[in-house]
Amino acid sequence: MAMANLGDIDAQTISGAISTGTHGTGARLGGLSTQVRALELVLADGSVVTCSPDERPDLFSAARVGLGALGVISTVTLQCVPAFALQAREFPQPLDAILERFDPLCDSEDHVEFHWFPHSDRVQVKHNIRLPADASIAPLSRARQFYEYEVMENSAFGLVCKLGRAVPSVVPTLNRVCASLWSERSYSDHSFRVFTTPRRVRFVETEYAVPRESLHDVLREFRAAIPRLRHPVIVPVEVRVAAADDIPLSTAYGRDSAYIAIHQYVGMPYREYFDCFERIAGAVGGRPHWGKMHTLDASVLATRYPRFDDFRALRATVDPNGVFRNAYLDTVLGPV
Ligand SMILES: Cc1cc2nc3c(=O)[nH]c(=O)nc-3n(C[C@H](O)[C@H](O)[C@H](O)COP(=O)(O)OP(=O)(O)OC[C@H]3O[C@@H](n4cnc5c(N)ncnc54)[C@H](O)[C@@H]3O)c2cc1C
Repeated sequence: MAMANLGDIDAQTISGAISTGTHGTGARLGGLSTQVRALELVLADGSVVTCSPDERPDLFSAARVGLGALGVISTVTLQCVPAFALQAREFPQPLDAILERFDPLCDSEDHVEFHWFPHSDRVQVKHNIRLPADASIAPLSRARQFYEYEVMENSAFGLVCKLGRAVPSVVPTLNRVCASLWSERSYSDHSFRVFTTPRRVRFVETEYAVPRESLHDVLREFRAAIPRLRHPVIVPVEVRVAAADDIPLSTAYGRDSAYIAIHQYVGMPYREYFDCFERIAGAVGGRPHWGKMHTLDASVLATRYPRFDDFRALRATVDPNGVFRNAYLDTVLGPV
């Protein structure tokens, strides 16, 4: 068996991943929470309840992305799928070119994403097609995996980041050099090996889900803003997609979504960059990832989620005394 979709890493706990709305990429697939079929929760009064589409459906619906506010998840029932393999193709493209063919690509491929060094015009596109588990696979050789993932994407890129942090004026040049080193590669492997990659370079990150149809406008405006930043950005932007779902606090609630994740190397200035991005994504009703950095509070989030008040009302019912309150929940949900 396999999970139908995964994010970039598989190091999270299942409950942490679903509670924060963790997602991968795929226009016909939802985030990890859409794979949940039942939950067992320990509620604030100590009772243990099971919820599913048939049993306490309101609680089930909300607790799939519950931010830890509704109870402690003690059991998760996941809908898995028969094991499958992925045929991956990665190749560099100009940003404008990929934006032009992004929608058809998302329609024809099962999983599409791209990375973009923000001081360059080039992106690295990755798309995967699902294959049956018994399809013959052709993984990258161990030596190539070591070179591509450990050397290029972690050790060498980590050194590039350190250099950029020490000498910020060279960052735009480093961006362009790194982007020029992107090359084509094609391989197939078990699904979980293709979805995830080792990530050892430390960074700060924010990510917003925007309506799919706004992606081009958001990226164009964001691209125009990058040269005006006082501090350059060394880590690429990541763009992914997901299908609409019906989970009240899911970032993809009610709309097909594009996810734009922006990062900065740890220790480098990021506030102006993140503020600029949050303003542009916010103008199209963007919703921040619950497990990543953002500056929104309950008053703004209420305008971004049509069922925000339903979630708050449910929370008040199952945790009337605020047993699960904390500073983050006070900010994003307001008082119980
Ligand atoms: C390197 C890296 C790559 C990432 N890639 C992706 C990606 O590709 N896609 C994506 O969407 N996100 C991604 N993330 C974000 C990540 O998936 C989330 O931050 C996730 O919440 C981390 O899970 P955790 O188990 O480590 O977190 P925790 O900190 O353990 O949990 C996060 C929150 O979930 C809730 N929670 C945890 N356990 C329970 C429980 N038992 N009951 C109730 N509530 C609970 C709590 O509110 C907790 O604060 C990435 C993060 C990193 C660091």
